[in-house]
Amino acid sequence: MTAEIICVGTELLLGDIVNTNAQFLSRELAELGISVLHQHVVGDNVPRLQALVAQAKARSGLLVFSGGLGPTADDLTKETVAAAFDDPLRFDEAQWRKIIAFFARMGRTPTENNRKQAMVPTRGHAVENDHGTAPGAWFEDGQGHCAVLLPGVPREMKAMWAEQVRPLLERRQNCTIRSRTLHVLGGESSIASKAAPLFEGENPTAAIYCKTGESEIRVTARAADAAAAEALCEERLAKFRAVLGDAAYDTDVPGLAWTVVRALRERGLHAATAESCTGGLIAQRLTEAPGASEVFGYGFVTYAEAAKQTLLGVPEELLKRYTVYSGPVAVAMARGALAASGAELAVAVTGIAGPGGALPGKPVGTVYLAGADARTGQAYLYRLALSAYREREVVRARAALWALDVLRRMALGLGQPGARCAAADAAPDTWDL
Ligand code: ATP
Repeated sequence: MTAEIICVGTELLLGDIVNTNAQFLSRELAELGISVLHQHVVGDNVPRLQALVAQAKARSGLLVFSGGLGPTADDLTKETVAAAFDDPLRFDEAQWRKIIAFFARMGRTPTENNRKQAMVPTRGHAVENDHGTAPGAWFEDGQGHCAVLLPGVPREMKAMWAEQVRPLLERRQNCTIRSRTLHVLGGESSIASKAAPLFEGENPTAAIYCKTGESEIRVTARAADAAAAEALCEERLAKFRAVLGDAAYDTDVPGLAWTVVRALRERGLHAATAESCTGGLIAQRLTEAPGASEVFGYGFVTYAEAAKQTLLGVPEELLKRYTVYSGPVAVAMARGALAASGAELAVAVTGIAGPGGALPGKPVGTVYLAGADARTGQAYLYRLALSAYREREVVRARAALWALDVLRRMALGLGQPGARCAAADAAPDTWDL
């Protein structure tokens, strides 16, 4: 089957919002083995939408729409598609009651305008929306063409897709599809150099998506039933894990902080952070993960040298002798965070995020990252060379991600590849990288 995606909304054309719905839908359709021939964006304009629907319907079996299901007079996607599929809309009492109940939960009553959202196809059917106001719609013309209309709001659209549209398309494609996402630290080229053959093959497929400092490998398998599809995914994931080692940090999690918080919780450990150039980013990431309050009590943002001295007890002499951007200061910050918080593990970051502030031999992007473990008395120090990333935000984001990984490695007792490792109270020169 071939498909076209049609996203409706003038704000998309004006560049006010990014068309993330098209990206999501394209990826989902590809996983279902449905080739997407075109992605379109069209404003809230009936003649242009009519022309586009006629053109797309003549070429493709499935049209997937997002947006234009709202109550206002210019939201005419449903009416236009109904006409193209020769399937008149009818008022549906049950949908109307659902809309009234949805408004009631927000302490509001719907207006007359909202009645239009209770109009559903006569031959086709509504696509239930348990996450917002307007139901979606499914149209068929009896000649092998169908159209599915979903709301523009990404949260609603994705939920309706997963709950109703995807299962329906899976049945039509006569298979069950399952996907798993492996989260890996490092970029595409380092992963590809180790695992290139694992990206080959039709079933399962494996695709890589790059994010800042890490990548996601999405493995998708199709089989007659869910258990067989899951087994195919698991087999391929195991091969990826074997090749990538502990850089592959987790499967199907929103991010590294979730893995770190789980690792700390499972071991009854607590973490503290001492941040300079990341300005609280590590603490922010950690607290995104539910359950963080059980494992994280103290995050120090010590931007000024005085704050490093007062809150973390970094000796002035170290700051003078090695400068604030130095290994000895990073280790002293981590030790100070342990002492002040009583946590078992601490990470500390000090560095030059840019654009200014470079020192001789220490270009912008030089970041010192220390981890300290009160259980073993050991500390770990990395000197990160992030100058290639240029932008301040990217340097900060990479440093924060790396710091989370240092915590993960300490919590799980994994190696700290590339770090200098010594007793946390070793002579300052030990840490002068
Ligand atoms: P509503 O019932 O809220 O009016 P709708 O189905 O008419 O929903 P739109 O009004 O087109 O949807 O979009 C609602 C919001 O959803 C937009 O303001 C925008 O924030 C988001 N949105 C719409 N289309 C997209 C898209 N293609 N990608 C990402 N976000 C989108």
